[in-house]
Amino acid sequence: MRSHLLNDTTAEHYRRSVTEGVERVAARLAATDRPFTGVTVDALAPLIERIDLDRPLHDTSAVLDELEDVYLRDAVYFHHPRYLAHLNCPVVIPAVLGEAVLSAVNSSLDTWDQSAGGTLIERRLVDWTTGRIGLGPAADGVFTSGGSQSNLQALLLAREEAKTDSLAKLRIFASEVSHFSVKKSAKLLGLGQDAVVSIPVDQDKRMRTVALARELERCTAAGLVPMAVVATAGTTDFGSIDPLPEIAALCAQFSTWMHVDAAYGCGLLASVKYRDRIDGIERADSVTVDYHKSFFQPVSSSALLVRDAATLRHATYHAEYLNPRRMVAERIPNQVDKSLQTTRRFDALKLWMTLRTMGADGIGELFDEVCDLAVEGWHLLAADPRFDVVVQPSLSTLVFRYIPRTVTDPAEIDRANLYARKALFASGDAVVAGTKVNDRHYLKFTLLNPETTPADMAAVLDLIAGHAEQYLGESLDRAS
Ligand SMILES: *Cc1c(COP(=O)(O)O)cnc(C)c1O
Repeated sequence: MRSHLLNDTTAEHYRRSVTEGVERVAARLAATDRPFTGVTVDALAPLIERIDLDRPLHDTSAVLDELEDVYLRDAVYFHHPRYLAHLNCPVVIPAVLGEAVLSAVNSSLDTWDQSAGGTLIERRLVDWTTGRIGLGPAADGVFTSGGSQSNLQALLLAREEAKTDSLAKLRIFASEVSHFSVKKSAKLLGLGQDAVVSIPVDQDKRMRTVALARELERCTAAGLVPMAVVATAGTTDFGSIDPLPEIAALCAQFSTWMHVDAAYGCGLLASVKYRDRIDGIERADSVTVDYHKSFFQPVSSSALLVRDAATLRHATYHAEYLNPRRMVAERIPNQVDKSLQTTRRFDALKLWMTLRTMGADGIGELFDEVCDLAVEGWHLLAADPRFDVVVQPSLSTLVFRYIPRTVTDPAEIDRANLYARKALFASGDAVVAGTKVNDRHYLKFTLLNPETTPADMAAVLDLIAGHAEQYLGESLDRAS
């Protein structure tokens, strides 16, 4: 069994195994002609259930053959140009190479004595990101598992910085289309049920700052304590960017922590063309970025950045065996002092390899391309009488719905759109997402693949219309 341990004597086994795995994935990528096979849970579950985990195969090729059946064949492939559903990006090769290196070396980024250069590389990337944001000389941050964790940590810092004797008095202000991790964080942080004040959005799905000002006034007058305003720079559904400069001014006026959730919009930090869309982000106290969304990085790769490094102390605990207090005086860099996690992947390496190979402009150009594609998609939809499209894109999402010529019952239109999304998924021809707007069911394209063309979008819209028409036709038959 020792032959399976990766070390100096097993280098050849390692090389062969990994190469064989890479060959399989490469062959699979080359062979996928659809983003999904349409496999159902009922079809796939028995294949996975049937496998006896107490009877190993002892052979890499056999294990990979089995993996074809239980995973590779039916996986959802984000690199396919007709995968248009969630905020998943195709990944860049330098980052995949980084992933292979980081898991083989297996550094853990909690302490210097488990990572050495890894810690310094992460710190350089944190500084690079805070520099791009413009957070100033005292800025710092840490890599996290994802935007949800980054938001949680940001709100933990904000809670600790808030001046109050009662958690029940704390209020967080976020737009009605902010990410649900804000509410989840409030719960995890022990705040009251009403802690998150939902601020309405304008027709472009951006936070109404007049309403925010009014709510800040109202809460303050009622003796409540504004703990943080969460501005979203790229809402998950619409890609809308809240008015950051106005929100920054209100945060200053009410001495409130400004958190910018740029999990999605962070790609603009690398863009030359559209960087100005997130102007004002430099005034934040904390920022969430998800490199695994708009920097074309594999899951996971995310960070929380803060204006004032000292605020990260709220996540600092010392353990004799790991990061004793004296190490701070010895200036030994232990990233665990800033993190909610202890053992932690060297995800930063993927971004490092990406920047060293392609440069930030390379990433920014890819993101610009999908933003431009979204504008083309908007024109397609706006000109097509079969569809109603919600907002002009600020990033790369399009929310729309099919509207039949003959049917006016809103519930029936909802059902036709829901059916179309399901039928499309079952066909595997394309994958789109869905959401609700004003309580009605809509469909969504999240465009993160520069390989997607306007022709792809047009073809998927035809497929959606076809499925919806089929549903409505059958529904008519049922009625008569
Ligand atoms: C995706 C997303 C998150 C959550 O990030 P994860 O990496 O999925 O945890 C938070 N906020 C916004 C705006 C997002 O789009």
